[in-house]
Amino acid sequence: MSQTLQAIRGMNDILPEHSPSWQFVEDSVRATLEAYGFREIRMPIVEKTELFRRSIGEVTDIVEKEMYTFEDRNGDSLTLRPEGTAGCVRACIQHSLVSNQVQRLWYTGPMFRHERPQKGRYRQFHQIGVEVFGLEGPDVDAELLMLTARLWKRLGLPRMSLQVNSLGTSEARARFREDLVAYLRAHSDELDEDSQRRLDTNPLRILDSKDPHTQALLDDAPRLSEYIDADSRAHFDALCGFLDAAAIEYQVNPRLVRGLDYYGRTVFEWVTDQLGAQGTVCAGGRYDGLVEYLGGRRTPAVGLAMGLERLIALLESAGVEVPDASPHLYIVAMGELAQQQGLLLAERLRDAMPRLRVLTHCGGGSFKSQFKKADRSGAQYALVIGDDEVRKREVGIKALREQKEQESVSFDALDGTVSRLFGWGQ
Ligand code: ATP
Ligand code: MG
Repeated sequence: MSQTLQAIRGMNDILPEHSPSWQFVEDSVRATLEAYGFREIRMPIVEKTELFRRSIGEVTDIVEKEMYTFEDRNGDSLTLRPEGTAGCVRACIQHSLVSNQVQRLWYTGPMFRHERPQKGRYRQFHQIGVEVFGLEGPDVDAELLMLTARLWKRLGLPRMSLQVNSLGTSEARARFREDLVAYLRAHSDELDEDSQRRLDTNPLRILDSKDPHTQALLDDAPRLSEYIDADSRAHFDALCGFLDAAAIEYQVNPRLVRGLDYYGRTVFEWVTDQLGAQGTVCAGGRYDGLVEYLGGRRTPAVGLAMGLERLIALLESAGVEVPDASPHLYIVAMGELAQQQGLLLAERLRDAMPRLRVLTHCGGGSFKSQFKKADRSGAQYALVIGDDEVRKREVGIKALREQKEQESVSFDALDGTVSRLFGWGQ
């Protein structure tokens, strides 16, 4: 027996009914980024596995167990990108975009991670990534946060909390790591299983653990903030000063970390309590060491990534009204001449009003069945053309969303009448 084919678990179709939300978010993000001088870059979805191993790190969840890696026909090991920063940095080095110059870049597209699918966590998901190269001061970190705050407002999202922290330099973190491991080793039987494993591989990630016992143990552990070097401290204080001046609320969360050496100083996350366990909508920070680590010249860098599925879930759960893309007009036409006339009038109206959305019925059928479809299309008005109308060079206009008599308008007066209906003047 044949079974219909299904999409792969954790990889979703985005159906037309959800497209308005996606387009609203994508358009708003693009307009906001352009308002801050960012330019778009587009990278391939597939890169050499080596790139992700090196830039994300061997002992991270992503590289250890989440990558979609395969051999292509040449025997090269390739990977579907699990995130965008690695490819963006690779492209910048390859095309000399970051030697002695500032770049403000953004990109969007699907990312792939083999995680356990659940609400807000998928195997193909979408991110918008933002990266700034060539600036090391806290002013640009602050501006990235102002940009995101502006975007949440523009989207009409419910309040999110902003958490910030400083990781200091890698030397400071190395000293902290040593003391943290010594402390945790003394209590290793109280740690959850994952954290026990991380003690040897990536101990800073233990600070992230959701396990309550581990969290309690961490209350008395050494604190990263006590190890931070003076320059990083000043950088962080200045960042907080900028945020205060811009009236952006934030909490300093000393347990917010990234486990990798080329991350340093600023880290942040925007978190909502409206989406259950998957509450982080946007995360980012400074990675001043990565460009050099991947073979470029030393270049300071800071960036962030937002998860579009989570942003859209938040938007929909808050009932934000997004711009409607349903047609303005639906053309109902009976008879061969009327069908031809309907197509021509629709073309003429589209020429005259580039913003106008016109759906022509196509396919014939009774007036009754055509009107049913007109109604279902969400259109505001039906334009009605039959043999009579063709003869008189007239069109019937029928409001579909309010009780009103059908009116007749001559072909010649149609452009003006339609544009007045939608408040476009003429
Ligand atoms: P999490 O702790 O939720 O696994 P992460 O630290 O792995 O997140 P990042 O790599 O920082 O996430 O990615 C940035 C953002 O991308 C996240 O804050 C989230 O909004 C989104 N994101 C990450 N993984 C997924 C996924 N599997 N499905 C949907 N969105 C995701
Ligand atoms: Mg993850």
